[in-house]
Amino acid sequence: MAGRDAPTDRPSDPDDRVPMIDGHNDTVLRCTDADRRTEAAVEAGVEPENVPDTDAAFLEGGAGGHLDLPRALGAGLGAGLFATFVPNAADPAFEEGSVDYAAGEVPPAVAPAIAREVVLDQLAALHRWDRATDRFRLIGDGADLDACLNAAGEVIGAIPHLEGAAAIAPDLSNLDLLYAAGLRSVGLVWSRPNAFAEGVPFLHDASPDTGAGLTEAGERLVAACNERGMVVDCAHLNAAGFWDVLDASADPPVVSHACAHAICPSSRNLTDEQLSAVGERDGVVGLTFGTRYLHPEGDQEAIVGLDTVVDHVNAMVAAAGIDAVALGSDFDGASITDAIGDVGRLRDLLDALRERGYDETEVEKIAWRNWRRVLTETLDG
Ligand code: ZN
Repeated sequence: MAGRDAPTDRPSDPDDRVPMIDGHNDTVLRCTDADRRTEAAVEAGVEPENVPDTDAAFLEGGAGGHLDLPRALGAGLGAGLFATFVPNAADPAFEEGSVDYAAGEVPPAVAPAIAREVVLDQLAALHRWDRATDRFRLIGDGADLDACLNAAGEVIGAIPHLEGAAAIAPDLSNLDLLYAAGLRSVGLVWSRPNAFAEGVPFLHDASPDTGAGLTEAGERLVAACNERGMVVDCAHLNAAGFWDVLDASADPPVVSHACAHAICPSSRNLTDEQLSAVGERDGVVGLTFGTRYLHPEGDQEAIVGLDTVVDHVNAMVAAAGIDAVALGSDFDGASITDAIGDVGRLRDLLDALRERGYDETEVEKIAWRNWRRVLTETLDG
């Protein structure tokens, strides 16, 4: 493993495996949300009366879903962005089935008070997990990240992320509180509007150019994240918002989970123009495994092989460059391709890249180096 520029003294991983950084999971949501936790556990064969609680579902595993501590350690995942996310159902006024996604509708904005309660609850879970075991650590800066990468296989590092900024007050008066609670990455929107920006709908054969860009509050939030060393994530933003962030932000652009629009023309994916802009600014895009963003026809039920996943990597590398492409699974947040299935088989993608001609330096860039460069520059900047 010579030639790693940093960290220099790894690996402690017993199998001398390449570490991995994953740009997006919704594992906190799966574990904290009783309905989701039960559904995933029962699907995995757990009797309904034996569904574990929030903390056991993550720390002990065996409760279904795509990622938990035992599986992530076994896979040698070094670190990941762990999202906090407010589901539609958190708002008692939300009617299930009321959004016509296929017609390009997005859910309504979430009330800030509801968003804050859910997000603080989810951040609290991350802190409990950090306290419960030496094998799970919250990451606050580049040194924390490197410590986790150096111990990949023995420790998982979590960068607390917010997917949709509704929990942040439009005057940013609680941003420092959220930072103090560990938050280090802010996705301005999920696919619904808020005080800062507009989310992109889940449409196939559609452009991401679907509405207005950042609001004034959105521009202030980008600047405030830059000041504090918090990542600004453009995933789920419409095109106007994406370009506004690229104009406004002093940090390398980040799109934590998306695929190549040139292969699967979902409004959630990035066009070649967007990909090359991320590459030119030394940013990073995390390749996501949601079937509907990978399959050329956007078919959520289709079988998508690793060959198609690598086709997306090729397209992203062609447009953005090898230094801009990374991992962004969406474990526990989407219906993902069976070719990967869960975190335990994430490494199969690295082998598929090698088989398609990526050399070891390129594989390492995609597996961890690109995320590490951008995260370190942003968190420590
Ligand atoms: Zn998402």
